[in-house]
Amino acid sequence: MDHASRPAVLTADAAGIAEAARLLREGGLVAVPTETVYGLAARADRDESVAAIYGAKGRPSFNPLIVHIADVAAARELALFDERALQMADAFWPGALTMVLPLRSGAPVAAAVTAGLPTIALRCPAHPVMRAIIAEAGLPLAAPSANRSGGVSPTGAAHVISSLGGRIDAVVDGGSCEAGLESTIIALREGGRWQVLRPGPIPESAICAVLGTPSDAVTSQAIEAPGQLVSHYAPGKPVRLNAATAQANEFHIGFAEVPGDVTLSASGDLIEAAARLYALLHQGAESPKSRIAVAPVPSEGVGEAINDRLKRAAA
Ligand code: AMP
Ligand code: MG
Repeated sequence: MDHASRPAVLTADAAGIAEAARLLREGGLVAVPTETVYGLAARADRDESVAAIYGAKGRPSFNPLIVHIADVAAARELALFDERALQMADAFWPGALTMVLPLRSGAPVAAAVTAGLPTIALRCPAHPVMRAIIAEAGLPLAAPSANRSGGVSPTGAAHVISSLGGRIDAVVDGGSCEAGLESTIIALREGGRWQVLRPGPIPESAICAVLGTPSDAVTSQAIEAPGQLVSHYAPGKPVRLNAATAQANEFHIGFAEVPGDVTLSASGDLIEAAARLYALLHQGAESPKSRIAVAPVPSEGVGEAINDRLKRAAA
């Protein structure tokens, strides 16, 4: 494909899905809609394709990728599943849950996918377009968020194009992402232990309902995933948190009773706030104001994940 015409914008119908799957099988880079954020997909079993993801994103090579699979059977070809992993898959797949599990020896994934770790991060997504692309490609797909490393994640095709533009082969336009935040990542450890590596749309309380309380009492605070960098999701200008009011030079993102220039959710709905967060950070980045201020958001349920992302955006 000639460079000037990249990326091809594909429709989220049978023709677009078939073309996306063809490009992926050939080793290309295709941005795809999921229920969390847009992913930058490539076949997980080919070194050059995985290297191209790191290159396009400018992602540090020590930060491993999540592999997306069609179902538990496909996941079991890549990782070792114990009874807890099966219970978790039963409860939350397909959906916004990523599990870090022991890598199966001889699993057909490029070494760069796991950044050399003895574990692999797996997710079975729910978005019908992403599911159709995985099925038609017939391959596990490595797919981090479809943005330059460290920036705000994309929740629409336009965000992908402005961040990665000519660096990728195609983007499938599936509209806005429903959840709007990256998946909850949980590591299942030996001896029945587990920990949340990244809070996300599935709150820790829902996980506790399946697995019980984490026995080593660690949560997202314990930074083990190399990708949990302190500064991430950065819109490229200063971000001030817990701002009930704003100065003249601040683009103010409101919530509930704080109106702002725009609002995450006028009614104080945290699910709506999660879905709108990145689009409003992108809007703030593009506004003529030199800074961004964000109203306080309570840390209940998915509010924990929203505050996790806001803290990194402000760092
Ligand atoms: P992203 O693809 O940008 O949503 O980021 C993927 C996240 O998954 C990063 O925070 C990675 O560090 C994390 N991750 C992927 N694989 C592993 C693994 N094997 N162990 C721990 N964390 C992982
Ligand atoms: Mg990311």
